[in-house]
Amino acid sequence: MPPGNEKLNSFKETLERIEVPPHPLVEALEFMRGFVPNATNIGESGDRNDLYFLIDTMNEAIKEAVPGSVCAAGCSRCCYFPIALFNISPLEWRTIEVFLDGMEEEGRERILGNFRRDFKKKTKQLSLIQWIVDRPISFVPKLGGLPCPFLEKGNCAIYPARPLYCRTFGYYTVVSGMIGNPRFYSCGVQGNALEAQLRKAGPQVGLPSANPLIYQLDLLNRLDFPKWTGWRLLLNLFGFYPDYPVILKERWLQKYEIGRR
Ligand code: SF4
Ligand code: SF4
Repeated sequence: MPPGNEKLNSFKETLERIEVPPHPLVEALEFMRGFVPNATNIGESGDRNDLYFLIDTMNEAIKEAVPGSVCAAGCSRCCYFPIALFNISPLEWRTIEVFLDGMEEEGRERILGNFRRDFKKKTKQLSLIQWIVDRPISFVPKLGGLPCPFLEKGNCAIYPARPLYCRTFGYYTVVSGMIGNPRFYSCGVQGNALEAQLRKAGPQVGLPSANPLIYQLDLLNRLDFPKWTGWRLLLNLFGFYPDYPVILKERWLQKYEIGRR
């Protein structure tokens, strides 16, 4: 064996003997891959069958892996327009509804009072926005820079029940469309901070994708929701509508508020 090869082989053997501890994020990815497709509920069981529990566990690992993240308690910029106006699925709303029902009267009335104050005169605009975001190509108009109706003094009043979008925003990547490269699922400020952190952490470390979480939420909603019929079903064949209604959270809250009168 030529002397060069001997050296190379001994170097390989040394490398094999060194145990490299897995990066926390790599461990978290393993964790997610294993359990997410088996999640059966959101926010109910508080164990490995609970998609929200899995996301929260993932988030802890990601925060540990990227400690220089600028997402922190008290930052609520993404709770303002335009991100504050987004659709949520029936299952996500059900979790919020259960949370609202379980709140003390005073806290719940405060949320509903804020909603009435900010959105009561904007029901037509909300309907229009709902119509726009229901289209294949969405364009969301401005609605006076209003924050999410659940934002109270810079904090989320329904934090334990917040929807998937709010749980994942800031720490994941996402691929949208048929073909696409993963991009940061966050505001630009957080995206830049993550990019700088990951560059330091090394090329093998990447943020997990939010797509499997979104797919699982979609699957759970499909299983839960009775099939749509009529013209919706027809449009669904052309891919215009999902199998269940996804509605602006402000519209869900509007229905809830009407139901409590
Ligand atoms: S994504 Fe951006 S705006 Fe939202 S909490 Fe993180 S840093 Fe703040
Ligand atoms: S539900 Fe909570 S975290 Fe999500 S946009 Fe509203 S206030 Fe912000």
